[in-house]
Amino acid sequence: MKIHVVKEAGFCFGVKRAIRLASNAARSKAGKAYTLGPLIHNPQVVEDLEKKGVHAVKEIRKNRKGTLIIRSHGVHPHILKRIRTKGIKVVDATCPFVKKAQRMAKLLHDQGYQVAVVGEAHHPEVQGIVGYAGDSAMVINHNRMKRSFPRFWKLGVIAQTTLSIDAFKQIIGRLIERTEELKVCNTICDATARTQKATLKLAGKVDMMIVVGGHNSANTTRLTKLCKRLGTSTHHVETAGELRKVWFEGKKSVGVTSGTSTPEWLIKQVVERIRSFN
Ligand code: SF4
Repeated sequence: MKIHVVKEAGFCFGVKRAIRLASNAARSKAGKAYTLGPLIHNPQVVEDLEKKGVHAVKEIRKNRKGTLIIRSHGVHPHILKRIRTKGIKVVDATCPFVKKAQRMAKLLHDQGYQVAVVGEAHHPEVQGIVGYAGDSAMVINHNRMKRSFPRFWKLGVIAQTTLSIDAFKQIIGRLIERTEELKVCNTICDATARTQKATLKLAGKVDMMIVVGGHNSANTTRLTKLCKRLGTSTHHVETAGELRKVWFEGKKSVGVTSGTSTPEWLIKQVVERIRSFN
């Protein structure tokens, strides 16, 4: 059985940067380092960071000693303001791609557009972007588009950074019919787009795909869906321990890919285990 690993798999630039900033903060003399919620959507990496002194907390407490790290997803501007007024030291690890989406949301709102964010309403990145549009932005996705949709004079559209370009194009196609003036900002991040493209190319050639990453990771779940939509047998695993030998019976080639929050060492463990089934 041949094993092919997507070259782009592993941490993206934004995740690497967030981990570096958090690790530096934990090593500094300013006290403990905290993140509001897990730094990234990968339980194994969060556990590793915890050992290094980066702790995920659920709420902001006044005068918390140490440094609070803003995650790569970014936060709602109200949260940032609250943190700063509480006298807490902040390190902003918001990914520059997310910052761009936040800036575009504010700009469109200031220019009088009704802002629409294409993505998942419950995702922290989307909630933050909505905040930069003065909380008046709406979140849309395929399910929302199935319901009746009002007509807009000026609509400005932004994408969640991890959205697939095809999903974005489909929704834009529908929105054109419902608006007089439509402004589209392509805020999909390069790293996600590259991984998705390389994954789909490989998925079209192999008998089965294994997608490695947190079960709570949006971009890993999306990669799994895209591979399945192609008709390729696909399994999403968080660790090598979740692989089942029976999946590989009769398979001549297997592709391995990962979300942008999956470390290389987890991918290596998965590849080693697949090799052991040969
Ligand atoms: S996936 Fe893209 S937007 Fe998200 S952290 Fe990585 S580089 Fe930034």
